[in-house]
Amino acid sequence: MSDDTGDSARLGNNTRAVTAGRREEWTRGIVSVPVWRASTILYESVADLRATGARGDTHHTLFYGRRGTPTQWSLADALTALEPGAEGTFLYPSGVAAIAAALLSVLSPGDEVLMVDTAYDPTRSMAMGLLKRLGISTRFYDPMIGVGIGALIGDRTRAILLESPGSLTFEVQDVPAIVGVAKARGLVTLLDNSWATPLYFPAIAHGIDLSVLACTKYIGGHSDVMLGSVTAAPGHFARLRDTSFQLGQVASADDCWLGARGLRTLGVRLAQHQASALTIAQWLRTRPEVAQVLHPALPDCPGHAHFLRDFAGASGLFAFALNGGSDTARAAMIDALDLFGIGYSWGGFESLALPVDPARHRSATRPDFAGPLIRLSIGLEDADDLIADLDRGLAQFRAAMGR
Ligand SMILES: *Cc1c(COP(=O)(O)O)cnc(C)c1O
Repeated sequence: MSDDTGDSARLGNNTRAVTAGRREEWTRGIVSVPVWRASTILYESVADLRATGARGDTHHTLFYGRRGTPTQWSLADALTALEPGAEGTFLYPSGVAAIAAALLSVLSPGDEVLMVDTAYDPTRSMAMGLLKRLGISTRFYDPMIGVGIGALIGDRTRAILLESPGSLTFEVQDVPAIVGVAKARGLVTLLDNSWATPLYFPAIAHGIDLSVLACTKYIGGHSDVMLGSVTAAPGHFARLRDTSFQLGQVASADDCWLGARGLRTLGVRLAQHQASALTIAQWLRTRPEVAQVLHPALPDCPGHAHFLRDFAGASGLFAFALNGGSDTARAAMIDALDLFGIGYSWGGFESLALPVDPARHRSATRPDFAGPLIRLSIGLEDADDLIADLDRGLAQFRAAMGR
């Protein structure tokens, strides 16, 4: 419940990323909101204790550590300010915890959720495990379905989960079309917006009800913090907050401080990630060893037209398919890279390369590529150095293929 969303909506993205959430009562004049660590809050008197507790909504009132301190409130406020039209944000100790709370705030036993087939694998696991056990069924749909989603809606359908672009294969969904159908049929929409962040895709303004970020990725930006957030459209925040309180969710003040520290430089980092990733993706397209580059800003990527229509920019994560080749040849290429680390996650200042096998994580669609896939998270190194590194890797790929 940011008090300054009204004013800040007029400002540019970068200005908001710098100024948002820095209320004087939380900073006390210090530029960055300090780490307010707390479990116990002391009260003046029994009457004071009872008065605070009686206010069922203790939002932005020190009450007990689990309900947060100014460090958490400030970051939540800032993320709300980056989403014009949003009501409020709740923070979580990971992106997956954020997805779980968002889904549980909407779904009840007997409900069905429509989930995009390209959802992040742990999101799929949650559907097949926890949600199923609670009597909530999941139907997976083609990321390119668009208005066709209407045909999948049944009596028990309650929500639609989107992730755009999709994990591993980067299909860009027709979000306005799906949101239009959802609103007409009274369904709640949830979007995993970790790739674009609100800077490149303001999800609430596009009609999404609950926008999820793995803040571990670009918001933190330095590969040193686990954090998640859900930002809610008007009418959806109270239930999200109640559900999250009942689940006992609280993101640590130290981690929120790191999240806020990352957020201040998000604009310049994303601009650089975007420029370097595009340069590298274009270079890969010219290489005979590469069959297809899956980057939303390039025409080979399914949903490229949706990207051009809806997004303000592209971040630094994309994938490419090798032109034939085995898992062994792919591993030879990745192992030969010096500057690219081999590891999960993405969105940090350092580049990463990862072998990915989307066919293992799909049920409604069948990914079909000319060769194995590699996902790259382009960091803040010089693009020329990264290209030279990939050139070395491709030479090892050719050698492993006997070409
Ligand atoms: C990493 C990731 C998450 C989960 O974030 P964690 O903080 O690692 O739990 C969610 N969605 C997407 C698309 C991701 O890549």
